[in-house]
Amino acid sequence: FEVYAAPVMSKSDKLKGIVLVLHDITELKKLEQVRTDFVANVSHELKTPVTSIKGFTETLLDGAMNTEPLREKFLTIIANESERLQSLIQDLLDLSRIEQAYFQLNWQRTNLQEIVSEVIELLKDKAEEKQIDLQMFVEGNTTLEGDMERIKQIAINVINNAIMYTPVSGSIKMFIKGNEETITLEITDTGVGISEKDLPRIFERFYRVDRARSRNSGGTGLGLAIVKHLVEAHQGKIVVNSLVGKGTTFTITFHRYRAE
Ligand code: ADP
Repeated sequence: FEVYAAPVMSKSDKLKGIVLVLHDITELKKLEQVRTDFVANVSHELKTPVTSIKGFTETLLDGAMNTEPLREKFLTIIANESERLQSLIQDLLDLSRIEQAYFQLNWQRTNLQEIVSEVIELLKDKAEEKQIDLQMFVEGNTTLEGDMERIKQIAINVINNAIMYTPVSGSIKMFIKGNEETITLEITDTGVGISEKDLPRIFERFYRVDRARSRNSGGTGLGLAIVKHLVEAHQGKIVVNSLVGKGTTFTITFHRYRAE
């Protein structure tokens, strides 16, 4: 609480009483903490690849450049870390754009089945590398009003995660179901799963269950935060169910028509 106190004086300058104003600033403090944590996280996430790029560049300049296998190895690390930096900056810019009060979707008539088919096409090589089977099942009318590019981004992030967190030879099933008023996209994987303790936090910026695994697969820790914002901008809902060692299901529900 923030407390303001002011004396109330009588005409003859005697103290008549005191006015106390109690201001509950719990929410404000929480917001402030979230912002401070975010800046600390961003700085840390940016620092890690930069430190690595700087270190390996210096080692190369110090002579490692003349040893063929080392040159190749270090340059590969530098290339990977630069790429990581690039995705991180891209996700950060995107998240900040989406979080702006004036952020607007480009509403249009679109088709969820077509969007998911495009995403499967985009990610199928990555799935094949791990012999992961991608299957799509469709039921009912899958047209809806929404922002095609943003819905595609939602699907890419969630399906990409499913591939990242599913071991070799697993499978990912996508169910698209159109009802009278809603369209649902359910993405089920046979991956590592998420514990009950971690489940409520996975939509937070930079929250990862396993930092090393996320880093190694090129994750930025921002994907689901972006997804949640975009689903909510569509007035939709995203729900996750998971069992450790069994797999995870993300269920995203959109309205068929834009709510006025
Ligand atoms: P990242 O870039 O680390 O994947 P996200 O915001 O996309 O970040 O996801 C946050 C965390 O949620 C991941 O680090 C991972 O621990 C967990 N996660 C997301 N999707 C899945 C999934 N399909 N299976 C298991 N864990 C998942």
